[in-house]
Amino acid sequence: MEIGTILLDRYEILEKIGEGGMATVYKAKCHTLDRLVAIKALKSEYAEDEDFVKKFMMECQSAAKLNHPNIVGIYDFHEITNNDKPLYFIVMEYIDGITLKDLIAQKGKISEPEAINISLQILEALKEAHANGIVHRDIKPHNIMISKSGIIKVTDFGIARATTNHTMTTTMDAIGSVHYFSPEQARGAFTDQRTDIYSFGIVLYEMLTGVRPFVGENPITIAMKHIQEEIVPPSELNPEISDAIERVVLKCTMKKQAERYQNAEEVIMDLSAIQSGARSFYTSEDIDESLEQTRIINTVEVEDILDKKKSNIFLDDDDDDFEDTDDYYYDDKQKKRIVKKKSGILPVILGVILAFVISTALYVGYTKLKQGQKANEVKEVTLNNLIGMSEADARQALEELNLKMEIESETTDTTKPFGILNQKPQAGINVKEGSTVYVVLNVDSDQERLESFVGQKIEDIENKISKMALKIEVQYVDSEEEENTIISQNPIAGSTYTEGDTIYLTVSNGKGAEEKTVPNVLGYKFELAKSTLEGEGLIVLDPEYAKSDETAKDAVISQSIQAGEKFEEGDKIKLTVSEGPEEKPEEEPEQKPNETEKPEENTETKPKTADFKVAVPLPQDVDESLIKLVKVVDGQRTTVFEQTYSKSEEVVYVSLKGEPVGEILELYINDNFAETFTVK
Ligand code: ATP
Ligand code: MG
Repeated sequence: MEIGTILLDRYEILEKIGEGGMATVYKAKCHTLDRLVAIKALKSEYAEDEDFVKKFMMECQSAAKLNHPNIVGIYDFHEITNNDKPLYFIVMEYIDGITLKDLIAQKGKISEPEAINISLQILEALKEAHANGIVHRDIKPHNIMISKSGIIKVTDFGIARATTNHTMTTTMDAIGSVHYFSPEQARGAFTDQRTDIYSFGIVLYEMLTGVRPFVGENPITIAMKHIQEEIVPPSELNPEISDAIERVVLKCTMKKQAERYQNAEEVIMDLSAIQSGARSFYTSEDIDESLEQTRIINTVEVEDILDKKKSNIFLDDDDDDFEDTDDYYYDDKQKKRIVKKKSGILPVILGVILAFVISTALYVGYTKLKQGQKANEVKEVTLNNLIGMSEADARQALEELNLKMEIESETTDTTKPFGILNQKPQAGINVKEGSTVYVVLNVDSDQERLESFVGQKIEDIENKISKMALKIEVQYVDSEEEENTIISQNPIAGSTYTEGDTIYLTVSNGKGAEEKTVPNVLGYKFELAKSTLEGEGLIVLDPEYAKSDETAKDAVISQSIQAGEKFEEGDKIKLTVSEGPEEKPEEEPEQKPNETEKPEENTETKPKTADFKVAVPLPQDVDESLIKLVKVVDGQRTTVFEQTYSKSEEVVYVSLKGEPVGEILELYINDNFAETFTVK
């Protein structure tokens, strides 16, 4: 996007701040509210992918609900057309600052008190998100910002879900974050809030040691290490750190979810204890110093890094350096980036861990990793937080995710809020679509419960439902039940309800549920064929035209779905319609005003005779029909054709060879006059 572009008459693009795998981030000014904002615009390859955009939008919506000082606020999401192309962008809180990645790159190791300070803020953000059922899934230093005033702001909540579950390209991008991947992500298995705890643990490791625990020459190797290899204890790389914080790192990064901290609060407690415990050892002078240290990310430092970043002499933004045995250092005097020098640390680590061979197993793992993510895309949804919701709201929320809800137990505890008290599985967990979520429901014993409406007639209960102050939504379906009978209801009988809830009723239209089959319209004039098919619920596409010697002009030669085949309402059918015979297409000025069928204009006009042919649809209300053609010569009627057909034939063709041109023929169906034709 050009600098100076104004989006929606409101956001003026001021400068490009950064670029990630799927989006470009700009600093912008919102003129309506007169404030700076960050605009994150989806790259065009993603904007073209409807599914992705939908998912992305949904994730933004849920993330937008989060309101916390340590979470980058999402203000809005827009879909516009810019330069004739769709443009999707998120408007979010602008953070004047740097990322944790910048800070680590600048400082190498971060002191323990400072790392704890940063960690506690990250964890507060995670705690808030998890409480709202949102798992980040892409916790890494680039997604952790530090404002000039030293406040940590975690960004991209929930967005990773849209990304990592997406296509191959995105999977490759997600692999950019592979250094922080949890083993379950690497395997493509279930992720939940403990996934964020793991990634946080890796970030803490990196803060304390200046390096990431697993490195390798490609993403597969790294992913496999997350699954299989033990972490080199951070104290081996930084002997200055306390045992206590080392234990925190190791517990966060356990391979098995069950062995990790189970939630952010548990980590907060341990880190806070380390923080205050450390203080108690210090003299009061030390305390001041320590407090100072915890506030170490001060304005000056952040600004300094920011300046260096801006002048582009420090840091490239490329994170996909899987080799990672290089390190940057910054020569303050020369004010330029010197070299990527070998740090020497990583070869040590690599020496400690087992040599890793890329084997078939690796590729299997890698394929699984990709497939896992692809499979997630189709079949898995992330559970909402239902706790605190009313039963009806919870049901609806789950329905939107294609999940079922079952009440595992019910209590009537007036000391607790009514509604859902607990849920299984927990919020944030990925579950297969269609699966059941079990809840503990706390009901107000005075609260009304829905009765069963099933089997009743809709007109009989409408009044009652409106008296209950419920909204009603009715869906009519084909069913054997008598017309207007309620077949099912949601919420089900026995559920509690509150005024304003909606009750969804499925009601029979009395049409029977048998499957419909396509009628035969061969030989029908197009208009008749069309109305016949439309009457059955098919959509008739514009016809194709073809010359035909066999079928009369305007009559149907063929149908794209054969007669007798099953169809569903709304299916499309295409008919091929005759333009008449090959040679003389416009040779039929006009026929007697025929209501339905028309003879074929077989027009070998030179001779005085012509072949006559007509398609006759057989009445379907009688088993058999007698079809007669009667020749009229000077007022004299002679039957020239007579035959009985079974109704199963539906349409029959009656033809006479070499009839004199101009001859009049009358068609009788079951001795009832149907139509007059003139032989042409
Ligand atoms: P990924 O695509 O994997 O998320 P990323 O986090 O580096 O990688 P983006 O999220 O697109 O990519 O962010 C790109 C850069 O934009 C960030 O590294 C950060 O410097 C900057 N940035 C992102 N959000 C904001 C914001 N709200 N305010 C200020 N700068 C931001
Ligand atoms: Mg990001």
